[in-house]
Amino acid sequence: MLDRDELVRYDRQLRIPDFGEEGQKRLKNSHVVIAGVGGLGCASATYLAAAGVGHITIVDFDVVELSNLNRQVLYWEEDLGARKVTVAQKKLSRLNPAIEITPICTEITEENVDNVIDGAQVVVDGLDRLSGRLALNAACVKKGTPYVYGGVSRLRGMVTTIIPGETPCLACFNPEGPQGLGVLGITPALIANLQALETIKLITGRRPSLAGKLLLFNGNDMKCRIYDIEKNLCCNVCSQGPLR
Ligand SMILES: [Zn+2]
Repeated sequence: MLDRDELVRYDRQLRIPDFGEEGQKRLKNSHVVIAGVGGLGCASATYLAAAGVGHITIVDFDVVELSNLNRQVLYWEEDLGARKVTVAQKKLSRLNPAIEITPICTEITEENVDNVIDGAQVVVDGLDRLSGRLALNAACVKKGTPYVYGGVSRLRGMVTTIIPGETPCLACFNPEGPQGLGVLGITPALIANLQALETIKLITGRRPSLAGKLLLFNGNDMKCRIYDIEKNLCCNVCSQGPLR
């Protein structure tokens, strides 16, 4: 049940048709793992916490640096040198004390990823390394956990929602371009909030709009394109693997 404070806190979203108290209760009872609380993860964690996702696990091994502050908006000057998950937990708990935040200070690897995403209803990608993303993807496919991918570079970004057994997985196509090209802070904020919206749809029983589709956003000309993506029948993660 939702208490009086929750009915007031979430009033504006409770008014949305097909969301209502039932949608809010589903959010309250959900567990989302946000892998990486950098530019993407700061934004998705903030909005998922504000929306009332009952349990959010945040995973990151980094400490806050000055060059993070153009886009990682959970961290301020006073947080320089502190662990990101510790700062993010504190700020998110102040934003919404009614939810549980579990910080995990680790780098996601093939060895620990199963434990890290254990119990998650949805995994939200906020990583910046392909090796971590592929480990997450493989673990989500194995466990049958929906995985919302997001990637950014400069003024461009992309999102897709991977539903194991149904859609292509991340290993079916190579979404990653060259790294280290720089990024405007607004780009991860936009992309992460599309990821958060897909996550809320998944939790509340709506069809995610980007299942089997890749959304490409280009902030240079404000164009947004959505492409169908195909399962790779030789994918060694979600299909039979290479044909011999
Ligand atoms: Zn695949």
